[in-house]
Amino acid sequence: MKRLISFLLAPLFFLLPGCGAQEAEEQFFSMDTVMSIHTYGSGAAEAAASARREIEALDAQLSRTKADSLISQLNAHAGDGTDVAMDADTARLLAFSKSVSQLLPGDFDITIAPVMDAWGFTGEDRHVPDSETLSAAMALVGSEGLWVDEAAGTARLERAGMAVDLGAVAKGYAAAKAEEALREAGVTSALLDLGRNITAIGPKTDGTAWRVGVADPENVSQYLCILSLEDQTASTSGGYERYFEENGVRYHHIIDPETGYPADSGLKSVTVISDDHLLADALSTALFVAGPEEALEFWRSREDFELVLCTEENQLLVTEGLEAGFTFTGEELGYDCQIIRR
Ligand code: ADP
Ligand code: MG
Repeated sequence: MKRLISFLLAPLFFLLPGCGAQEAEEQFFSMDTVMSIHTYGSGAAEAAASARREIEALDAQLSRTKADSLISQLNAHAGDGTDVAMDADTARLLAFSKSVSQLLPGDFDITIAPVMDAWGFTGEDRHVPDSETLSAAMALVGSEGLWVDEAAGTARLERAGMAVDLGAVAKGYAAAKAEEALREAGVTSALLDLGRNITAIGPKTDGTAWRVGVADPENVSQYLCILSLEDQTASTSGGYERYFEENGVRYHHIIDPETGYPADSGLKSVTVISDDHLLADALSTALFVAGPEEALEFWRSREDFELVLCTEENQLLVTEGLEAGFTFTGEELGYDCQIIRR
């Protein structure tokens, strides 16, 4: 189920007894997905365990399916006027998410939760909602009704029935927190796979960049291209990861906040590469909804990320900042590749 599969090319250093070269791996299930953390160098095992604990602690606060999480408390108080106490991480993530809605209005909104519920994406019973249910849910969407006071450490949802869902950003924030934990433990070379969010910490121990594949949305065991990453995250969003079929139509889990329906903007997947792990995660979701033209226009307006867009026409649009460490492997799979200039 991995969209981006890490290429751990044969370890390029040797484990000589007593010379201190170490590596460790943690594999676990968190944030509704399988995650792995590979660490290298002295203290590798303790560092990986500490990064895992950090992610699990975050999940316990950000999950909306865990009844005692901070997000569940915020959602439970929607419309009753309570300023609900948040911890610093949760308040920061809420404020950041709200800012992304302002940056890309109509594409990204964490108050999409009631619409996710209407489609049954929160539980197991996925189905196309009837139009009354959907419009009632849509009436509750809007980040302007989410108030966050980072200094006070509180948040509030204005109207009863409103709810937030941090599914689009939690793994990016988890990557940032995990990196902190790894660096604190002295690890400077690691590869994190947090489920379609691949984070490279440092270069590999031999000093070269990590090599990470972007999966073919039609067959995730094959790659469209290989990227070089160093102190960066590559986050992929697409319609092929979580979906159901009804009457022969496929419905996926990234919702266009303007229609309440799964986004249908001409893209099969979006991969965002950035040294800001959280930004990469948020933008991959938002730009998947935005579509190729708006995504490239937004890229031209900023300097802090690069893109691999996979279009419905089997075109790979790759922004020029990736060119140096980039290998196109999608030709045999029927894809064309084009480098996009500023
Ligand atoms: P994944 O978590 O599958 O790797 P994403 O990072 O793109 O993929 O996040 C998708 C999740 O984001 C959905 O499951 C849902 O929780 C939430 N979501 C869906 N549509 C939107 C949207 N337009 N804006 C913000 N969050 C969204
Ligand atoms: Mg995302």
